[in-house]
Amino acid sequence: MKALIDRLNAEKTLSRAEWTALFAGFDDETREYAAEIARGIARARFGNGVYFRGLIEFTNICRNNCYYCGIRAGNACAARYRLTKDEILGCCARGYAAGFRTFVLQGGEDPFFDTERLSGIVAAIRAGYPDCAITLSVGEMPRGDYEALFRAGANRYLLRHETANRAHYERLHPDRMSFDNRMRCLSDLKAIGYQTGCGMMIGSPFQTPECLADDMLFLRAFEPQMIGTGPFLPHHDTPFAGEAPGSVELTLFVLSLCRIMLPDVLLPATTALGTASEDGRRRGVLAGANVIMPNLSPAARRKDYMLYDNKATGGEDAAETLSVLRAHLSEIGYELRVGRGDYGGNR
Ligand code: SAH
Repeated sequence: MKALIDRLNAEKTLSRAEWTALFAGFDDETREYAAEIARGIARARFGNGVYFRGLIEFTNICRNNCYYCGIRAGNACAARYRLTKDEILGCCARGYAAGFRTFVLQGGEDPFFDTERLSGIVAAIRAGYPDCAITLSVGEMPRGDYEALFRAGANRYLLRHETANRAHYERLHPDRMSFDNRMRCLSDLKAIGYQTGCGMMIGSPFQTPECLADDMLFLRAFEPQMIGTGPFLPHHDTPFAGEAPGSVELTLFVLSLCRIMLPDVLLPATTALGTASEDGRRRGVLAGANVIMPNLSPAARRKDYMLYDNKATGGEDAAETLSVLRAHLSEIGYELRVGRGDYGGNR
């Protein structure tokens, strides 16, 4: 196992059979070995700095029906909301004052926020905060829409591929969603010039070591600028209500392998990881993650953006959230790094 990790570190790739063996057979010792190498790589690239991004969950209305997700269209129990443009700009203002220099607009695929409306919001943020990065995470669109949003001033886009194994993808999504379209979106985003993030859930139902091997091979080939990956956690009003949550240890192991394979990648210690384990985000940083995405949404709305049960909502006040985070990170020898934190910007 350690020999495989050494080879990954040297050659930055493994075969499908080797990846599969690694995921099927890893133990704590292997995981810690990988974490040590990953941490060293992150330290060499980013020092003891962790970038922070402000997450604005601006709508929980969604036309899709992903079986895992708590805000799926078919969940009649979700209390639906949309933020107004002014509310979104208010989140940015509070975030900016606290020190945030990246805003991440995330939401369901809400038809109300068509390209024109969304472009207007992006343009307003761009005009108000020329020194900030704008990240979008609003699902699948035609290429022309991605282009329009890029022209309006968006710089980055997060669209997790969820799983790179087609058969697995089809067990996580209803028929009207397509693996090919998700992949088409990702390649369009990258071609347009977005710093592009993909990623997968760890331990989602029906995931096998082979699925994770396919994820690693896909990440190798696609070379995303960002990888968002966290444990699957069940939501009680979804078809996967009764499924087991993904493992924190496996998630940490995957984070380390991503860091070793793609040394420069922006790698968040996700909210799901922080929800699954109280110390999850710090353990993520120690496994090679270099980004944390605190919540900037209005506190009253956060309980309604429930992708999975017990999702951590974070502190109400942006400045206080950062001071708590700063204190937690300083205990492990890390600090928040102010700035946009672009891909490759550390070099
Ligand atoms: N509509 C956007 C944003 C989706 S929410 C899009 O399609 O990209 C962001 C991410 O949360 C998803 O990509 C998914 O990987 C994750 N997520 C959703 N439900 C989850 C669950 N039950 N457990 C863990 N992660 C989940």
